[in-house]
Amino acid sequence: MFSRSDFSTHAPTVTQWIADYYKKLPELPVKSQVKPGEIYAQIEGQIPESGQPFGDIIADLDRIILPGITHWQHPNFHAFFPANGSIESLFAEMITAAIGAQCMVWETSPAAAELEQRMMEWLRDAMKLPTYWEGVIQDTASTATLTAIVCAREQSSGFSSNDYGVPNNLRVYCSTETHSSIEKAVGIAGMGRKNLVKISVDEQGAMIPALLEQAIKEDIANGKKPCCIITALGTTGTVAFDDNEAIGIIAKKYDCWLHVDAAYAGSAQLLPENQWMNKGLDYADSYVFNPHKWLFTNFDCTAYYVKDVSVLLKCMEILPEYLKTNTRGQVNDYRDWGIPLGRRFRALKLWFVLRHYGLNAIQEKLRTHIGYALEFSEFIKKQAGLTLVAGPTLNFVGFRCTEKAQGEDIAPLNERTKTLLEKINASGKAYLSHTKKDQYYIIRVIFGQTYLNDNDLANVCSLLKEKLEQLKQP
Ligand code: PLP
Repeated sequence: MFSRSDFSTHAPTVTQWIADYYKKLPELPVKSQVKPGEIYAQIEGQIPESGQPFGDIIADLDRIILPGITHWQHPNFHAFFPANGSIESLFAEMITAAIGAQCMVWETSPAAAELEQRMMEWLRDAMKLPTYWEGVIQDTASTATLTAIVCAREQSSGFSSNDYGVPNNLRVYCSTETHSSIEKAVGIAGMGRKNLVKISVDEQGAMIPALLEQAIKEDIANGKKPCCIITALGTTGTVAFDDNEAIGIIAKKYDCWLHVDAAYAGSAQLLPENQWMNKGLDYADSYVFNPHKWLFTNFDCTAYYVKDVSVLLKCMEILPEYLKTNTRGQVNDYRDWGIPLGRRFRALKLWFVLRHYGLNAIQEKLRTHIGYALEFSEFIKKQAGLTLVAGPTLNFVGFRCTEKAQGEDIAPLNERTKTLLEKINASGKAYLSHTKKDQYYIIRVIFGQTYLNDNDLANVCSLLKEKLEQLKQP
């Protein structure tokens, strides 16, 4: 085993491994090609009795682990939403791990708490979010949304459900397109998944406000209590935007909490040309976005903002003797701003990224990604056999195979699109994912990799052309 004095001797092995990894990354298969159980079978069944040489561990990292990694930082990873990172963020993560602070309260690392406060202000102000919002860094959007739903539940039940249990008539509303984390959170919050009402969307994938109001009225007539509405700024399937102004007016009218899920697309609010997304945010009680998706900050890092921090504290605060401090009330003790007690020092990586890039370079990168989506959508339009079905919206494009003959059944058409996707992903040269829109199976492409360049765009286009040709062959 090492002592601290061994650090400088062995750190170069690790930094060199990272440098080599970055060098070979474009050549590695983006999506891991291993079969279930293949990695497990190669790992010894128990802890070794005696410590093994560090060199052997690094060798096994290459031999056993790396083939089982899907390379999220690969330039042609365009699946799901990215979890992009940067060298700045990596350096901060190394330092964070070295410091190893557990930042549950201000006293357990004042710098972590105060830097976090500043970082949340920096982002809020650069994104032109309401100036009175206060933010906290959480792990994931799922946790932030659960926090919001618990606050909505508490407020709706006169702050009694934490103590006495949850009434079974509280209703939560979101669209059919909002993220699965909402349904999960409603269940975990003890409100019952059956009390989540999914409102239909328009052809853009945005919630239809009139249908929301109708559902609320019906619920009230049936003795239910509307509690919370969750909107999406950038849905997961096709990056659609709910109208926070129209929905906010309804939330106010029926005394509902409004939570806005901008998990992915929130980063785009750093661009003045996208600040139309801010419309209606004054109605929101809470809002979440993930710098760990499209802001060059390694997973995990989630910015959660609230209109009234006192409500958050009322719902989350619990004060055993061993956590009482003398600075209480004068500082932000972030353990009271969310679900877990223990907290990583996540603000450091945001600070490194935001400072070293600066707003101009961040904006330039976001615009480059958005430009690639535009170029790619033009490419799709020119391909015989492909149909553009969604976007370009920000840096997202959705497409599918075109019907062979007018009126072709949807099932074989969907099968063809799925086969095309599988061929692309099996090549190891790119990783795309899918969703369904109006019963059609569609391929989603997101251009969100930090170091994406023109060549990478050209690569994914030529790969798509090649696989499309193969699909046409009998
Ligand atoms: N909300 C939306 C709109 C998402 O797209 C996602 C994930 O892609 C989430 C929430 C969940 O994010 P997280 O993994 O941070 O919980």
